[in-house]
Amino acid sequence: MPKLPNNQADDGGASDSRGIPTPSIFLSPKTVSEASIIRQVHSKYGTAGPTSGINCIDGLVIPLSRSPEIKSGLQLDDNNELVQPYRPIHDRVFIYDPELHKLFSGSEREKQNILQIGLSDSRRRNLLQAIRHNKEQKRGNLMRVVYPQLDLGFIQMIIEEQVVQNADILTCPTVPLTSKENFELQISKFTEMAQEGLAVTENLIRKELKRETMVVLTVQPRVVRPETTSTLVETLVSLGCRHIGIKPLDDPYKDSTNARALHNLIEQIRKQADPKTRIYFMNVLEAGYTAFAFGADVVTMTTGYPYFVPPDEERKNGRESYGRWYNPKAMLWVERTEALEASRTHNYLIPCSCGASQEVRTFLSVDKAPDWNRYRKAHYCLVKNDEARMLQNAEVPLRHAIREMFARSENVMPIALIP
Ligand SMILES: [Zn+2]
Repeated sequence: MPKLPNNQADDGGASDSRGIPTPSIFLSPKTVSEASIIRQVHSKYGTAGPTSGINCIDGLVIPLSRSPEIKSGLQLDDNNELVQPYRPIHDRVFIYDPELHKLFSGSEREKQNILQIGLSDSRRRNLLQAIRHNKEQKRGNLMRVVYPQLDLGFIQMIIEEQVVQNADILTCPTVPLTSKENFELQISKFTEMAQEGLAVTENLIRKELKRETMVVLTVQPRVVRPETTSTLVETLVSLGCRHIGIKPLDDPYKDSTNARALHNLIEQIRKQADPKTRIYFMNVLEAGYTAFAFGADVVTMTTGYPYFVPPDEERKNGRESYGRWYNPKAMLWVERTEALEASRTHNYLIPCSCGASQEVRTFLSVDKAPDWNRYRKAHYCLVKNDEARMLQNAEVPLRHAIREMFARSENVMPIALIP
């Protein structure tokens, strides 16, 4: 089992005795293609030294319903790795995210995939029918239809599937918190499921391998407000779970009120939870690094886009063919046309020193769609590795390092959020 990240220390990236530095960045491949990009990037560029490839990426968060295909893309059983000078991919913390929020807002296929793990064929069919029937009605109705199905048996199946997938940290499946109007109902179902999930994992841990457990609060940022924060903190802390994830369902940095509310939530959890607790800020963009200044230990990021950028937006106007490129100096995502335009006077040279960018050299040489997406994602993984290395090796206190990182970029909004 890989080592787990140490508690966050505001001293510029201390290493714990087990060798995992803090803070940590985890990547979250959502498709088999993204998984194979991670594998290729690491095999190709991981050989150059301890900080190359994705050697500084300490964990992977994988959607549970797609784990077999994503793991095949990662080629975890590649024995070749044992003789390589770099850190093997399987030497990371593996987390499988049940993603139950997709039962309420995902596509038909996503709902089916999730329910397939936890429900028998007939129960699944009935529930999907009921969901379809209730689609046009209020969310409250949908909850009344779905909640009773998410019972102890369902929870047990979802957790056992993670054991089958050999997770390092078992994640309790819980419902998302999506509205202030239904807060009481949602938090009570969340708590019930988390408690049942923890009982299931405790049982498994007692009779089987030593494993750690995690509870993830999947939440719409607008639900986190002064009047709900103390309940959220109390609920999460009283579960006594070693790993706590906060996963916003919308970009909290679009609105500084949301960002501050989530930072405050993380800070309160850090103050009240056992010091050994690890706090994960999940599925965020680069601005999420600011959470390290409030006590988060790990920030998890997708290799494509987070949930809150709907796939429809990418598909619109052929954007599916040309997804946005992450500009590491500006710390911003730009359209392909913008990237081309900005580099036009420099012979379209790509302003990045990562292995993938150096190999293709110019934006013009990645003009075909699948290649463009493969390139931009390979580049993204390498850049994330670099950002993780910079934060872990910072010679100044972490909050200063983060502030400096944003001050050097064009993404300056987060600076004002750091105390
Ligand atoms: Zn690059």
